[in-house]
Formats: sequence, structure tokens, C-alpha cells
Amino acid sequence: MQLQEIIELDKKYYMNTFGNRVPVCFQYGKGINLWDTEGKKYADFFAGIAVSALGHSHPRLVSAIKGQAEKLIHCSSLYYIEQQACLAKILVENSCADRVFFANSGAEANEGAIKLAKMYFSKKGMQHRHEIITLEKSFHGRTLATLAATGQEKYHKPLAPLTPRFSNVPINDLDALKKVIGESTCAVMLEPIQGESGINPVTPEYIRGVREICDENGLLLIFDEVQCGLGRTGRLFGYQHFGVEPDIFTLAKALGGGFPIGALCAKDFVAQAFGPGDHGSTFGGNPLACAAGLAVMDVLLNENLAGNAEKMGSYFMERLGALKTKYPFIREVRGKGLLIGVELSVNKAVEVKDALLEKGYIIGSIGANILRITPPLIITATDIDDMLSALDEVLEGINK
Ligand code: PLP
Repeated sequence: MQLQEIIELDKKYYMNTFGNRVPVCFQYGKGINLWDTEGKKYADFFAGIAVSALGHSHPRLVSAIKGQAEKLIHCSSLYYIEQQACLAKILVENSCADRVFFANSGAEANEGAIKLAKMYFSKKGMQHRHEIITLEKSFHGRTLATLAATGQEKYHKPLAPLTPRFSNVPINDLDALKKVIGESTCAVMLEPIQGESGINPVTPEYIRGVREICDENGLLLIFDEVQCGLGRTGRLFGYQHFGVEPDIFTLAKALGGGFPIGALCAKDFVAQAFGPGDHGSTFGGNPLACAAGLAVMDVLLNENLAGNAEKMGSYFMERLGALKTKYPFIREVRGKGLLIGVELSVNKAVEVKDALLEKGYIIGSIGANILRITPPLIITATDIDDMLSALDEVLEGINK
């Protein structure tokens, strides 16, 4: 199909929640490259919003999906599922969690985390502890509960009142957190590195302080690792940078390498709160999604993609730092590993993103002034050099 035809179909039949999409339709991908309907090649520094950790069409992932699709796609979690059990084992063996539940997305995994925290207190006869504290500028998903958890006013306003009780407090401010803890608080939920609101890492002092406050007050600590988990920040999990363990954490995005799957992971003492019938999912943890997850985890662990993210992330940040010296309108370069934000002092993020796309490089933008760089974790220094020389040219143009 021609691009124009696809755009016309979309405009007529699809709900317009994405506004004016970028007028490109990708047809296939290989490694870090994508090709559109016109055959134009792009280098992908966005990975479909931090999803395609292995790059595109990774042979290991493709053959796992193909092989599983030929055998069994779905059967229901009412039966034992080999791939589900094996993927849960790998996640437990490589994290602080003891048990896992699979969902289909990040929001759904977070809904499960919120529900598990509430159930934990409910089963202890403390149903009054139902409120969860989250951070301002956080992003936890687009279902009603995860929207309420999301600390960004713009998502709340049109839907108020949002049913579950969440208090949003500023990031890196322990006093603000202490002030809102009350009789009804049951948990604190946070992203170790906020993704959607502009790549804002929590400080080590803050996250350690939050752990202490949770312990002192008998609260559960939930980390949303949907975006920062699974190697992206240079460690397998974001929390591993801080020497602090959550009671519950959630994963999605990279877990299926693009195939939809989310995971709710928890320590045993809290996972025990979910008994038979307390939670479920028709599609969650199906053989196909878990086969994809197994292939992703195999490559992530055996090819040490977290190590590559750490090495390439440092190189990327260092070279972006040099561009910051050259272009004073770069206000800050921040992030960890390959979860990178470049904040401009001018509202030209979309202009930069579009100009890079024109040159065949895909990045994201957040708001008017933040560039978002989340490439596949297989990226090389040469790929980064190529992208940065294109970015340099684009920034030179803006400088004039
Ligand atoms: N949590 C975080 C930190 C995210 O970045 C996202 C998506 O961007 C979500 C949750 C929601 O995930 P999903 O879009 O898979 O529901």
C-alpha cells in the first residue's frame, strides 16, 4: 500500500488519540534499521518507545515466535504453561523477586502491582490502608488506576474524579513524602528513572530514604521498571543502581522485544496476598508471549546487553556533553545507560526530531524542549557516531 492510502484509512477509521502522526509507515526492520513504504532507510534511536531492545527482527526472537506460533499460541492460564513457568524462573533468578505474574502491557502490570499492594493490607485486616503515594511527573500508564497514579495533572483533569486514591509528591523530596503518609497509606510507587516526563532519575539518597521510610511505616515499595528495566539503564533492573530492593516491581516494554507482555514481580511475603481467584488475565502469560520473553531474556543475559547499554550510554552521554559545550542552547544531558534525555533551552525538540528523521535518524521528543534517545541495546559506537554527526548538523542549523 502507498503511504497516502494508509493515512487516509487511518484518518477515517482509527480513533484519533495519536493526533497528527509522523507521516511515515515502516515496513520492515533489521538490527537498528527500519525501512519505510518508499524504501527509505532509517537508523532507529527510539526503539518504539524503549521497546525493541534487541533491535528489529532479531533472528533469535523471530525464530522463537515463529516456532511457538506453529506449536501453540494460546491455551489459557487455567492450564500449566511451560514457557510461562520458565520465563518466571528466569526473572526470579535474576532479580530480587520471588514470584511473577504476566500481564499484557505496562499499565496492566502496574494495575496488578497496585491491586497486590492493596490486597496485602486487606488480608492483614487493614483495608483502611488503600492509598498509594506516587511522584509528580511520573508516568504509570493509561488505564484509570494507572492514570490516577501518574503524577501529571494533564492526564487527570479531563477524567476527574479518578477512582483510586493516589497522592503525587515531588521527586527527590523526602520531607514531602513523609508529610503525606497517613493512616490509609499502603505503598509508595515510583519509577527509579522517570521516562515519559523527560528522563528524570531519582537520586540515590532519595530512593534509599524512601526504602527506609517505607520500612519504618510498614509500607510496600513498588518500582515501575516498565521503561527503565531489562538492561536499558546499564543494569538489568534500574533499582540495581541504588542498592535498594523494592517489594514489588513491574516490567513490560522490552520484555517481549516488541511482542506484548508485562510482568508483575514481587517478593514472596507480598505475592502470597494473591490467592486463587484474586487476579487473572485471559491473554497474560500465553505461550507465544512467554516464548518471546524467553528469547529476549536469553539474548539480554547471554550477550550482556545491559553491559553494552552501560558502555554505549556513557559514550553517548560523553559525546552529547561535547555538543552541549558547542551549543549553549543544550541545557542538560541526563539519564542512565541508553535512557537519555537532552533538554534544550529553546522549544525546538520537535524541529530537531523532524530534521533528524529527514536525515534518516529516529529519535523521540518530550514536550517542546526535550529530545528522547532510547535506541536498541545492541547499538554500537559507530551507530552513535553517525547519529551524532547528523545531530550536530541539525543543531548547527538551529544555532544560525
Ligand atoms: N510505566 C512506565 C514507566 C512507562 O514508561 C509506561 C509507558 O510508557 C507505562 C508504565 C505504561 O506501559 P504500557 O504503555 O505498556 O501500558
